[in-house]
Amino acid sequence: MPPAHVEVHRPDSLSEALEIRAAHPDALPMAGGTDLMVELNFDRARPPAVLDVTRIPELREWAPENGRVRVGAGVTYTRIMAELGDRLPGLAVASRTVGSLQIRNRGTVGGNLATASPAGDGLPPLYTADAVVELASTRGTRSVPVAELITGPKRTALGTDELIVAFTLPAAAGPQEFAKVGTRNAMVISVCAVSLALWPEERRVASCIGSAGPTPIAASDADAFIAAELDWDGLAAPSDAALARFGALAGHAARPIDDVRGTADYRRHAVGVLARRTLTWAWGRMPAWS
Ligand SMILES: Cc1cc2nc3c(=O)[nH]c(=O)nc-3n(C[C@H](O)[C@H](O)[C@H](O)COP(=O)(O)OP(=O)(O)OC[C@H]3O[C@@H](n4cnc5c(N)ncnc54)[C@H](O)[C@@H]3O)c2cc1C
Repeated sequence: MPPAHVEVHRPDSLSEALEIRAAHPDALPMAGGTDLMVELNFDRARPPAVLDVTRIPELREWAPENGRVRVGAGVTYTRIMAELGDRLPGLAVASRTVGSLQIRNRGTVGGNLATASPAGDGLPPLYTADAVVELASTRGTRSVPVAELITGPKRTALGTDELIVAFTLPAAAGPQEFAKVGTRNAMVISVCAVSLALWPEERRVASCIGSAGPTPIAASDADAFIAAELDWDGLAAPSDAALARFGALAGHAARPIDDVRGTADYRRHAVGVLARRTLTWAWGRMPAWS
């Protein structure tokens, strides 16, 4: 029998929240509630208790830190768009595509990370910047690369007594782009997505595929190929053949399935198109970064 009522904990500090998390491992953390409330409404989850993390100051802050940007897990998409567009443009563009204004006002990247949906739009930009996620419990804190935190579709390495506190990533050093394909223009779950970041000082391209595999997938072979092709000194446009090969390698890296939103074949094709498109957009903006 599901519990007759749901107990709600509303801690005001991180230490208090971690104590509650340790004492009540079955209390589900709730940030914006835009994933969790859907689960409750559809009766897919009926936790005995909820741990509301929205009052914890550390989760709501962001700041530059040792050459990186540290973003609290509870910073909303709306704030990322408004406050971090210059430092984290890839994540800001992805944030703009999430849900509606109301969802962006409530939803957080911390929630996106913990849900670990293959279609989570906040995740690919974190992969292209090798973001590190900070987890805390009463046992201490640990830092986990985002690709190690997300272990499978809707699966993470988060312990039952841990909270996601923040993630850190380098500020953009070159153009960053994000594009997704959906069945309509807004309020849509990605059929597939591509996030791409250029790191000109290292002459490196980092792209990540979303919603076309069990987890976000770094398109490493495609990135290595195009990084060697690009004219980093003269900034000439890449050839059509190089772009086509880049798209094909990105499509090849995808591990899509057929589902209600699209077929595997379509996703593979669309990933190739998005990879070419995001690279073309980003490369076109390189002169502004030189
Ligand atoms: C109409 C609608 C449209 C949407 N559109 C999109 C979209 O376009 N793209 C997209 O990616 N997503 C979309 N979503 C899904 C959702 O908005 C995002 O996944 C969002 O990032 C979830 O964040 P949240 O703060 O609301 O998480 P919550 O719902 O509060 O929590 C989600 C999960 O994370 C856990 N959690 C939350 N915070 C923490 C923490 N600090 N530490 C540990 N665990 C934590 C919760 O226990 C829960 O399991 C949509 C949802 C709706 C309802």
